[in-house]
Amino acid sequence: MRIQAKQLSKVYGSGENQVVALNQADLDIHQGDFISIMGPSGSGKSTLLHLLSGLDRPTSGSLTYDGKEIYTLPDKELSAFRRRKIGFIFQQFNLLPVLTARENILMPLLLDKKQPDEGYLNRLSELLGIKDRLSHLPHELSGGQQQRVAIARSLIARPEVIFADEPTGNLDSRSGGEVMEMLKGIREEMGKTLVIITHDSRIAEMAQRKLTIMDGVLSEVNGI
Ligand code: ADP
Ligand code: MG
Repeated sequence: MRIQAKQLSKVYGSGENQVVALNQADLDIHQGDFISIMGPSGSGKSTLLHLLSGLDRPTSGSLTYDGKEIYTLPDKELSAFRRRKIGFIFQQFNLLPVLTARENILMPLLLDKKQPDEGYLNRLSELLGIKDRLSHLPHELSGGQQQRVAIARSLIARPEVIFADEPTGNLDSRSGGEVMEMLKGIREEMGKTLVIITHDSRIAEMAQRKLTIMDGVLSEVNGI
């Protein structure tokens, strides 16, 4: 899957209250890329990730997946496209508190009226070390375990691309490190594209392509 963003902008508010959260961002993502994005708080990182993943629509600009314009899709089709093609990992995990880990993981498939693939669920749970936690509710799990459940949910529909918005931001450094190692391993093993926002320069350094964002302006840090 090739993802191309051209001149993506997002402006909030108007007049004196106007905020240019993202200023004409261009980005070309190839299948299998591992990209990190760093930038200070309020610089537009989440805005960019939400636009790239179709969670939000831009004020102007275009986004194509394999040449197909995404923002022209009506909301319902855009949601379906997202569920099938894109995995998203949030800083706050965003698990549904009344559902078990297993039910949370399978939610994207249920919404799509697809049968769960028990073999794949098993494999993901094993890779993520949550096999004996599947019948638990989120509040019965540690932060690291909750995020690993959220990672399994992001992968269950077998998307080609995973977006992660500060996935270790709510974790202590040990469970954050574990979560990152698992994400990296899964990316390598399954050939997924991974775009990750982080505050942590050690995580940013793991990526092949490093981007920074300042006041809504995105730029790529060239390798030496
Ligand atoms: P980051 O993720 O880098 O911390 P964000 O993308 O969340 O930054 O926000 C970028 C800028 O856009 C900030 O100035 C923020 O206050 C503003 N912003 C984000 N979302 C909204 C919104 N829904 N309404 C108004 N302003 C917003
Ligand atoms: Mg953010």
